[in-house]
Amino acid sequence: MRLQEHAVTIALRSRCSGRVAIPARQPSLDTSPVVSDEVKTTTCYMCACRCGIKVHLKDGAVRFIEGNRDHPVNRGVLCAKGSAGIMTQVSPARLRKPLKRVGERGTGAFEEIEWDEALEIAAGWLGDIRRTDPRKLAFFTGRDQSQALTGWWASQFGTPNFAAHGGFCSVNMAAAGLYTIGGSFWEFGEPDWERTRYFMMFGVAEDHDSNPIKIGLGKLKARGAKFVAVNPVRTGYQAIADEWIGITPGTDGLLILALIYELMAAGKVDLDYLARYTNAPWLVIDDPGAADDGLFARDGNGRPVCWDRKADALAPSAPPPDHPAFKGRYTLPDGREGIPAFELLARRCLDERYAPDAVAEETGVPADTIRRLAAELAQAAFEESVVVEQPWTDWTGRRHERMVGRPVSFHAMRGISAHANGFHTCRALHLLQVLLGAIDCPGGFRYKPPFPRPIPPGPKPSGRSEQVAPETPMPGMPLGFPTGPEDLLVEPDGSPSRIDKAFSWDAPLAVHGMMHMVIRNAWKADPYPVDTLFMYMANMAWNSSMNSVETAAMLTDRDPETGEYRIPRIIYADAFSSEMVAYADLVLPDTTYLERWDCISLLDRPICEADGPADSIRQPVVAPDRDVRPFQDVLIDLGARIGLPGFTAEDGAPRYPGGYSDYIVNHERKPGIGPLAGWRGADGTAEGRGAPNPDQLERYIANGCFWQHHLAPEERFFKFANQAYLERAVALGLIDVAEPIVLQIYSEALQKFRLAARGHGPVQPPDSKRERVETYFDPLPFWYRPFDMEAAEAEGGLPLFAVTQRPMAMYHSWGSHNAWLRQIHDSNRLYVSTVLAEESGLDDGDWVWIIGRTGRVKARIRTMAGVNPHTVWTWNAIGKRAGAWGLKPGAPESREGFLLNPLIPELLQPDADGYQHSNADPVTGQAAWYDLKVRLEKATAEEAAEAQIADLTPPPGLPPVPDELRYGAGFAGRAR
Ligand code: SF4
Repeated sequence: MRLQEHAVTIALRSRCSGRVAIPARQPSLDTSPVVSDEVKTTTCYMCACRCGIKVHLKDGAVRFIEGNRDHPVNRGVLCAKGSAGIMTQVSPARLRKPLKRVGERGTGAFEEIEWDEALEIAAGWLGDIRRTDPRKLAFFTGRDQSQALTGWWASQFGTPNFAAHGGFCSVNMAAAGLYTIGGSFWEFGEPDWERTRYFMMFGVAEDHDSNPIKIGLGKLKARGAKFVAVNPVRTGYQAIADEWIGITPGTDGLLILALIYELMAAGKVDLDYLARYTNAPWLVIDDPGAADDGLFARDGNGRPVCWDRKADALAPSAPPPDHPAFKGRYTLPDGREGIPAFELLARRCLDERYAPDAVAEETGVPADTIRRLAAELAQAAFEESVVVEQPWTDWTGRRHERMVGRPVSFHAMRGISAHANGFHTCRALHLLQVLLGAIDCPGGFRYKPPFPRPIPPGPKPSGRSEQVAPETPMPGMPLGFPTGPEDLLVEPDGSPSRIDKAFSWDAPLAVHGMMHMVIRNAWKADPYPVDTLFMYMANMAWNSSMNSVETAAMLTDRDPETGEYRIPRIIYADAFSSEMVAYADLVLPDTTYLERWDCISLLDRPICEADGPADSIRQPVVAPDRDVRPFQDVLIDLGARIGLPGFTAEDGAPRYPGGYSDYIVNHERKPGIGPLAGWRGADGTAEGRGAPNPDQLERYIANGCFWQHHLAPEERFFKFANQAYLERAVALGLIDVAEPIVLQIYSEALQKFRLAARGHGPVQPPDSKRERVETYFDPLPFWYRPFDMEAAEAEGGLPLFAVTQRPMAMYHSWGSHNAWLRQIHDSNRLYVSTVLAEESGLDDGDWVWIIGRTGRVKARIRTMAGVNPHTVWTWNAIGKRAGAWGLKPGAPESREGFLLNPLIPELLQPDADGYQHSNADPVTGQAAWYDLKVRLEKATAEEAAEAQIADLTPPPGLPPVPDELRYGAGFAGRAR
């Protein structure tokens, strides 16, 4: 008897007698019936979290997906999205064959073509560009997990115009971390979930590290550790927090600096830690007007110096003296004076503008609450320290008998990052951790290898004109980490070298590129025209753009003089019929994640844990039933067709004829270092470094599709200064030299840009940008009001902040073609505080206009208590255009769904010279999605009935969309 029959038996008996009779012979319950004849492991890709999964197959079809209990990322946990991968595999929106545009862009006028023709067209366009001016290719990818390949392909092609989606995701968080502590959150590091006693989370909805965060929060809850959530909206993780701080958007930096103010005023900072591991005691030259003002004073060997209080003399900072000065002025050998960096930080953070009483109104957080939070942090850090009884030796040779930690930790993501003040906010948060001594110690934040890396990490970006030539690879990768103005990608006249203006004076540390500016700049031929826009899984015609309606219009705009499209050619690769497909000239259909090889590489963004490096693969678990090819195979094929050196053997034949799996095994970025770190060497016994191993993929598969190295206990904490770890990291190929990584409370790299703005050095900003660079390249964190918020406030009449959150059951637009996930989110409401709704005479279900500085969109509202009263919000990327994503006309996503994107300008208002900067952080170029201010106006009944946006015509070849798409219907002999 199966479970269902048994349940019926019990129900009938209950109904007859009023009580459950225990049958004489209890039938066995089969709660886990065998549903499959084969189980294959691989890596989920229903979001960016990279969980390990086991896919159960029956007769070659997917029957069931479960989490892999052995996998380091998720330990068997599987979320709704991961389970619903089954329905992605039967999605009606799957592209089926290459498409060539045969009518106007945006009209869905395509014809299906064979792959030979598609590749011939693409290779023809790309080859022509490469032979003339490689910069005329703009190659941008979305949430692409193969950036180690795609970035290298761009470099081999010779174009600087490459980036993935990081510029509009969380580059502020990444860059601030990498320039401060040599790591950051998510794939860079994580809280010590086992030991932390006080955890603060800023601006995180359902974000990148999805299942690990859920597992971690479960551990915190089980141990009774305090969890404080700072977020304007109380959803998701916030809902289980012990305390919710409903902060005003864009003011997180103020709150963090106020916490630092309190801690500094109370003397609750870890001076021992600061002396040993940070540049807090380094002397900063105080010589206003000099070319080295604000840089570190150095000795004859180039080492920064500090003041040794015991010796009453200057001392090299490496190794640091036991008693360095943290305050005062000290005479340098050349007669000038130097001030410890810590004193400069203290002056900054003890400024009364950061006192709790001064920030309470702006942040919406009462001063007493701020003071209490600071006291709780100090209590946990300094009165409840945790100890791991494990001796270790630091890089100076000093042996420590135990590992003593400050059990406070933090996590943050896009909520504090996607503002025009996000870089300094994120840097302030990292500094808060440093001041508490809570970086890579027991109970604190822990790096995940390959982090920490040198600050800033290498390499530098390539792409200035002199580095670009026809039929020639660039000398390096398009993305990198500038250490000063001389590393920028600017031309001799100061103009940007890249189409997105990353690494220009507009955004010098745009280390993830500025994808959100590509279409506008290409349309405007600013700074130069491009010929071909080549994109992969980036829905730039809809939810992956700011000002999305106008952005889509730029894709169809023609030059009135020539009649040609302003962006002449668009190649788009995706597995699904997204809105962007309609705007392409050539569509290259990709496979689903269950149908291909992939590599989650240490060269890119791997799956490491704090206790050791790890990487993983995807293997094809089912064969495609359509005429589609994995994009990575296609890219490698195109590389060979157009003769890119890295993809071509000496005889001109393809270097990787086996496609991506061939590349994964045999490519070496440096001798002995390839995409995968596990089972290297001819016999598969090497880790990290070693010759290619032809059996490597088999070894991964035999191990559940991942590799993991466990650090020895003495290597697991204080990695930035731990000699055993640093040597292990070199041996594994994670870093090049076993040198200490000094945490940077004061950023000399930022000061170098500031000095250029003051007229020093060979590479200086144009006069029009000097003040901007001088202001925002402050070597110490500070808070300022985000630009577009300020513009809206100056205009007046836009009193509300408007933000989005990512739901747990939908990853951007990826779930809208998934029948199960659509049952959870097929439309979105604008959430409004109950207080605001009452004041505004609004009720649940009312239609309103959300009116911003540049336009309006329509939405239905829902009231809720758990939201900052001055903030409205909605789920991200639920609104869709019918016709895309396999959605029928009138689908709820298009009828009642909406985006805030059309209201978010991609450009700021003109400056004094009439120039419009990107609506982005001035340091990193991070898109400032969350700086939107709006007002609400009730829509009339007629307006409410009007369509939101025109439908799209689906491309040819897609199957008719069924009224119902049911999992399992076919299993019982019924047609699906
Ligand atoms: S969190 Fe992301 S990667 Fe993990 S199971 Fe869910 S969808 Fe898949």
